Amino acid sequence: MKVVKFGGSSLASGEQIEKVFQIVVSDPERKIVVVSAPGKRFADDIKVTDLLITCGERYLKGENADDEWAQIIKRYANIANELDLSTEIIERIEEDLRSLFEGNKQNPGSYLEAIKASGEDNNAKLIAYYFQKQGVEAHYVNPKDAGLFVSDEPGNARVLKESYDHLYSLRNRSGIIVFPGFFGYSLNGDVVTFSRSGSDITGSILANGTKASLYENFTDVDAVYSVNPSLVELPHEIRELTYREMRELSYAGFSVFHDEALIPAFRAGIPVNVKNTNNPSAAGTRIVNVRDNKNGPVIGIASDKGFCSIYVSKYLMNREIGFGRKLLHILEDAGLSYEHIPSGIDDISIILKEDHLTEGIECKIKQRILDELQADEVVFIHHLALIMVVGEGMRHNVGTTARAAHALAQADVNIEMINQGSSEVSMMFAVKAVDEVRAVQALYHEFFAKVPVNA
Ligand code: ASP
Repeated sequence: MKVVKFGGSSLASGEQIEKVFQIVVSDPERKIVVVSAPGKRFADDIKVTDLLITCGERYLKGENADDEWAQIIKRYANIANELDLSTEIIERIEEDLRSLFEGNKQNPGSYLEAIKASGEDNNAKLIAYYFQKQGVEAHYVNPKDAGLFVSDEPGNARVLKESYDHLYSLRNRSGIIVFPGFFGYSLNGDVVTFSRSGSDITGSILANGTKASLYENFTDVDAVYSVNPSLVELPHEIRELTYREMRELSYAGFSVFHDEALIPAFRAGIPVNVKNTNNPSAAGTRIVNVRDNKNGPVIGIASDKGFCSIYVSKYLMNREIGFGRKLLHILEDAGLSYEHIPSGIDDISIILKEDHLTEGIECKIKQRILDELQADEVVFIHHLALIMVVGEGMRHNVGTTARAAHALAQADVNIEMINQGSSEVSMMFAVKAVDEVRAVQALYHEFFAKVPVNA
């Protein structure tokens, strides 16, 4: 039995939903269908989730949101119209939205959560209705009814362990199950959403809970590419990669699959297949536990902006017991988490996400490090990009760092920092954000576009 998830662009119009129907019924193993809210039909389009959020926020402020309201209803009505469905389903969706928007605003957080989640919820109802009209047995299943319980962290929910056992019984239901992605319920019975693009997470949780043989994640590209296709023309397609490689790549900007969605599938040993709704016969990319390492040291190169670092130096830091702990404690007091910590004998750099750091926090941290740790120097370096060079094969290849460093030098990119995780699955280079694109292109050329000497 397979769990199949379709993203927003695969469900943005009636034409797309027809493709989804054909894909699902072409394989009797495809039993559980997880759906997103209608996404973008074209580059400047607005996702239904974003319209819902704007609309909800306006109502909370007591402002007029007639325009957004009309746009949301129109999106569903257009889909129903293109699929030749009766107006009955749209009337039901309209009624549901009206009661959500008119709902209790005493707790603005819960009010918005329920509105945000309605994008997937109503889309799942619409899709189940369409499948039924096509003569197929299909049922909408609500996450509460299936026992998908999550932590009470709005916009950042985590699945509760007991959910997996509850979800197993979905296997015994008859017909195709259409399940809304992106949210679950707290133990108090409130709707709580995952982080954005979280329908991938729902699919992975369901695959784990039902012990599916495969989790198919349908999106709008033929494969996961070895580098961002907007930076390199026609990049190499990845056929197979490991969970760890995918996690490293999605952490640093590969948005094709939510990084948090890997863990539930990984824990149950369920392979993931990323496929294209618009080209379902293409093999796509498989994410697996172990893979052959025939393809050289590097499988992908990812990059992301928006980082900064705190450079701290103190003579004989290496001999001072507890220096690292005290330093991290100062960050903890400021509510900051860190990304990487490259270090030397007398110095240490802590890399953080820039948006977590305000000017006020920066001054306070600097003063505390100088006063409490008697550091010689504390410098904040802003506007950094992190480049991750990823591949399980690095463990078995000598000279990968040298090749990467040489390629960056040739492209006149200064490496601000370098870090290799102990797992040897990735290498991190911090460079100035202005050098990001040049650095990625140089690394891609080195590892993918060069003809090997012995080819
Ligand atoms: N609709 C939600 C979002 O736009 C979740 C998803 O599409 O996976 O973030």
